[in-house]
Amino acid sequence: MFYLPTRIFFGENSLNKAKDFLKLGEKAFIVTGKSSAIKSGALDELLAVLSELKIAYEIYDGIGENPETPTVITGKEAFLKAGCDHLIAIGGGSPMDAAKAIMVAAANDLKEGELYQLELHKRGYPLIAIPTTHGTGSEVTQYSVLTDPKRKKKAGFGHDLLFAKLAIIDPHYMLSLPEKVSLDSSIDALSHLLEGIYSLKRVPKLYPNIFYGIRLILDNLPLCLKEPQNIRAREALAEASVLGGIAIAQAGTTLQHAIGYPFTSHFGISHGLANGMFLEEMMRFYRREAEDELKALFRYLKIDEEGFYSWLNQFPLKVKVEYSQEQKESWAEEILGARNIAASPRKPERKELEELMESVRK
Ligand code: NAP
Ligand code: FE
Repeated sequence: MFYLPTRIFFGENSLNKAKDFLKLGEKAFIVTGKSSAIKSGALDELLAVLSELKIAYEIYDGIGENPETPTVITGKEAFLKAGCDHLIAIGGGSPMDAAKAIMVAAANDLKEGELYQLELHKRGYPLIAIPTTHGTGSEVTQYSVLTDPKRKKKAGFGHDLLFAKLAIIDPHYMLSLPEKVSLDSSIDALSHLLEGIYSLKRVPKLYPNIFYGIRLILDNLPLCLKEPQNIRAREALAEASVLGGIAIAQAGTTLQHAIGYPFTSHFGISHGLANGMFLEEMMRFYRREAEDELKALFRYLKIDEEGFYSWLNQFPLKVKVEYSQEQKESWAEEILGARNIAASPRKPERKELEELMESVRK
């Protein structure tokens, strides 16, 4: 019913509270983005603890947004060259997902074309995840989402080996988030929570957590955007993000995620916003398949469906883009072939999918 092998430390000062569990090897490979590890303050705090625990490290920074498969292979080579024996990811979903892929690539000597071949994923190295955004929940999922730059194709894979051993979630690390990332990543978390009730693999025992996570976002997202330094609002959003991660770790993502991928790969639209562009449409699309769940959710939130959409539409999510008929057809193929579709409670007909895609066309 439920599998989550990650030990979670949550709240202020989590890194220090997690100290007894931090020593997972002799030399850590720290995977991070361009500057989030520094801006968030997480790297400084981590290096102090590593020095105290006498753990050596190598820093691999510069992971870009929507990490690409060649970066993973360069990371694998750097990991092996440095003689590391475990990994610590600091950052948003991009560095965390890159670290997971580097980890299996190094442990199984995978080449770029083999990253998605799960039968080759036989062993891993221990991984610690320290998120600095409140969106992906990647610190508690077994997924890594990568982009193949040659084909401009974004796709995820999942394997139990990719679960972090330890997740350290401190809302202080999120205070430095720019407004756009604060919004977009929260919308990603909201998508995960909703997918936890749409999915064919949904786990009803998780509904109380899912409903609570959505409540946290409803109450705290507007507040966080108004008061970015409000630590309580950040903490609530970080909790919602973890609950969203737990939900998709069990239930998987759905068409809600698959439909956004081409819009990220081709227009550079952030992952959270790519979900947000379709959030209302997807809720309407799955209305019948998740009728009881959505009714129970709205009762819990004390809001009706239209009230929920009005809440959502206070944010700038209705982005429109220009694309050709040819592009639409090729993306529709890609979306229908995505792994996420397997857990979708309603498989769209080609025509329905194209209509959904039309909703964001300029
Ligand atoms: P992200 O791509 O990791 O980061 C977005 C931007 O925010 C980057 O410019 C980053 O800077 C910056 N940033 C991050 N934390 C910051 C902080 N505390 N202060 C200032 N700037 C900060 O964003 P994300 O939304 O967290 O991750 C999106 C990725 O995760 C997508 O590729 C998506 O597909 C994936 N995802 C994975 C899962 C999963 O379960 N594995 C689930 C959903 C989504 P830097 O460049 O300096 O880091
Ligand atoms: Fe996501």
